[in-house]
Amino acid sequence: MSESSVFTRILRGEIPSEIIAETENAFAIRDIAPQAPVHLLVIPKSEQYRDVVELAAGDPALLAELVGLANSLAAEHADGDFRLIFNTGPGAGQTVFHVHAHVLGGGLSEGSLGG
Ligand code: AMP
Repeated sequence: MSESSVFTRILRGEIPSEIIAETENAFAIRDIAPQAPVHLLVIPKSEQYRDVVELAAGDPALLAELVGLANSLAAEHADGDFRLIFNTGPGAGQTVFHVHAHVLGGGLSEGSLGG
């Protein structure tokens, strides 16, 4: 078994971070290097799935739980609108291989891909 992911270690309290919301199977934290006025991460408690493709194939209900958590967080922390980003693969910028969604909100620019 390889070393636990940074997010598992946060969930266990081994790395300091505030868990700002939680559902049965998922939790949310603030991204340590925010790319938008509101930049949160929603993360399954299990690190079983590396990326959103594996998650969608293996547990679509958990994917829906992440989307629901992102929606409530955007209502609480921004104006309700948000961008949901799953970097998938190193070439797309994924650095943590424990699936997570970036929830971006609050004064986003209007470029078609978010630029
Ligand atoms: P990705 O590049 O899509 O895999 O996203 C990983 C994200 O995790 C990056 O945006 C990092 O800034 C964020 N990150 C890494 N370590 C921490 C941490 N200790 N607390 C909060 N966010 C983190």
